[in-house]
Amino acid sequence: MDEQAMFTLMVDLHRDGERQGPGSEEETLRALDLTRLDQEAALQVADIGCGTGASTLVLASRLPNAQVTAVDLFPEFLDVLSRRARKAGVSERVDPLEASMESLPFDSESLDLIWAEGAIYNMGFSEGIKTWKPFLRPGGVLAVSEITWLRPDPPETIRRHWNAEYPQIATASEKINILEDVGFDLLGYLVLPPNNWIDNYYEPTEKRMPAFLDRHDDRPEAAQIVAMEREEADLYRSYQEWYSYGFYVARKR
Ligand code: SAM
Repeated sequence: MDEQAMFTLMVDLHRDGERQGPGSEEETLRALDLTRLDQEAALQVADIGCGTGASTLVLASRLPNAQVTAVDLFPEFLDVLSRRARKAGVSERVDPLEASMESLPFDSESLDLIWAEGAIYNMGFSEGIKTWKPFLRPGGVLAVSEITWLRPDPPETIRRHWNAEYPQIATASEKINILEDVGFDLLGYLVLPPNNWIDNYYEPTEKRMPAFLDRHDDRPEAAQIVAMEREEADLYRSYQEWYSYGFYVARKR
């Protein structure tokens, strides 16, 4: 299947989801508290790889004077996000932006807070934090969730899977070293609990699969997407004690 066809199918499967990756309002708010930013200030915020806006809406609601630019590659997700922002009464402070996280149009040192839940892996953790750092003002804060080994000695099956899917998977101490080397100081770290994966992401995605397959007449490409997503969910259910998303909150020096 070519990349474009795969993206189209992935967007169709995930567009109706409240979120496109593991997470929760509760953990977004916990991470926001770790930033130590003044939540009443007129903050300039970017939510990168925002999907349909799960974290964007939490940030825009909790930060009453912030302007949040919600960035994603796919306009279909941003359309849903815009509708949800209107419904939540925050659309005046949410600016959807169709752009690649690899070439963002922000001015140097223009942002107080960069947020990215389950998205930085698309360009890689190291590349992402290096590329985005110039957009933060000194003292500005980065908050990213990133797939992380919870223990340094995962079993062969899951180690092989993730090393093939995302070779930058590492333990928290390795990720924190990278942040420090690039010029960030850690403010806090938390681990997404299993319900953020299963109740909030895998189960809702699995519920949408029959209708998705119907819409695509059970075409092999659609069946392949479903099989991939099921395999990922099954692996998480079997090996959840070994990995999760770590949420890293760090201040630019
Ligand atoms: N942050 C959202 C959430 O937690 O629900 C979405 C997470 S989803 C796993 C990753 C998101 O990154 C998707 O919405 C996808 O469209 C977006 N994405 C992938 N590649 C991208 C790129 N190069 N630039 C911007 N967004 C991208």
